[in-house]
Amino acid sequence: MTDYSDARVLIVDDDAFMVNFTRRILGQLGIDDAGEASDGAGALELLASETVDILFCDLNMPGMDGVELLRHLADLDARPSLVLISGEDKRVLRTAEQLASAHDLNVLGSIEKPPKKEGIQPLLDAWASQRAAALAKPAVRRSGPALSPDEIRAGIRNDQVVVYYQPKVSTTTREIEGLECLARWRDPERGLLGPGSFIPIAEEEGLIPDLTRAVFRRAIAQVGDWLTNGLDLKISVNVSVEDLSDLDLLTFVTETTAAEGVDPHKVILEVTESRIMADIATPLEILTRLRLKGIGLAIDDYGTGFSSMQQLKRIPFTELKIDRAFVAGAHEDAEARAMLESGVSLAKRLELTTVAEGVETQEEWDLVASLGVDLVQGYFVAKPMPADEFEGWAQEWRRTTEQAS
Ligand code: C2E
Ligand code: CA
Ligand code: CA
Repeated sequence: MTDYSDARVLIVDDDAFMVNFTRRILGQLGIDDAGEASDGAGALELLASETVDILFCDLNMPGMDGVELLRHLADLDARPSLVLISGEDKRVLRTAEQLASAHDLNVLGSIEKPPKKEGIQPLLDAWASQRAAALAKPAVRRSGPALSPDEIRAGIRNDQVVVYYQPKVSTTTREIEGLECLARWRDPERGLLGPGSFIPIAEEEGLIPDLTRAVFRRAIAQVGDWLTNGLDLKISVNVSVEDLSDLDLLTFVTETTAAEGVDPHKVILEVTESRIMADIATPLEILTRLRLKGIGLAIDDYGTGFSSMQQLKRIPFTELKIDRAFVAGAHEDAEARAMLESGVSLAKRLELTTVAEGVETQEEWDLVASLGVDLVQGYFVAKPMPADEFEGWAQEWRRTTEQAS
């Protein structure tokens, strides 16, 4: 169970009655010693010396109002998550939410005055599950032996980057819709290494653009080969946020697909939710233009980031991949299941294809299928495999599917 009783809360409101009222509700929800400030300046003063997890922010205050406070919050290193409170109409709240998102702040939601327990509790729940997920899974966890930047540089040139492929299959027809490309490293001494040995270092050292290109080139060539053999598949490639500050990616992607005769509609780029948002202008341009060329865009690891729905709406995504954290054990964990359900319903509203990641058991397959998830990727279907094993696997998969039906 995720828990929010240790959340450090600050209530910013000039109305002492509202502060006490909110504090009382928080107390009923197990949060006992929320701090308070009577305007934005007071809040900033407190934030300079204390860590705050969740900031309840009134919009209309004398002195520094809530809207101005948002701008200052954006400059902080440790930004609290936000709950916006207002006595104004809903449209003001919505605009303030958008503004906060534009400042790259995590808005849990907004509530109207007077606050109610039923309104606050789900926002605290959301905060707790975001925190649990973020703790559970950094974008790529360091693991295995760490390669040095020089080894990575040389290895990219010497073809040590290998691509493994993991199928994505339909929950309704069981048909193979596509594959995700996952980078591996072939090391003469240490054998085959996973991404934890080189992706985090490549990200730190500015080597990601070269690595992404190496993976992409191989993947596109492979799709071309499979197409020649009569296998018409979509291919998903992971991109890092470092790739999205470089307009050359656009040219590279379109030229490589064209050179191999691969239809751009067969290509999906996966971007991890929490990392898209740092500087939004350039990524937004790159992603939008890729989309215009027909390239699909997936939100990867959905649920583990701290971004809000507004941000998701701004980027023309086509697919939403629900992180394994919410699939594993979701049939017995109510909170994981709630995230799973809200991911699916968000995706439906935004008309995105949904993918459940990390499905390992029949039970998990049944659950995600019953919730209307479109595609499944996970060990239950297949582990990532080298290209030359895929055709054999696909034949076997189709054979068992036909037998079952
Ligand atoms: P990801 O994009 O979320 O990829 C899915 C990961 O989950 C893969 O780990 C896959 O092997 C694993 N997985 C799939 N199904 C299951 C399952 O049923 N159970 C369990 N326990 N795990 C499952 P992998 O290959 O180790 O990759 C880890 C991460 O490294 C990827 O997470 C991705 O963020 C990153 N990565 C991999 N290749 C690349 C790449 O070419 N470029 C970039 N930038 N990142 C990459
Ligand atoms: Ca991925
Ligand atoms: Ca993922």
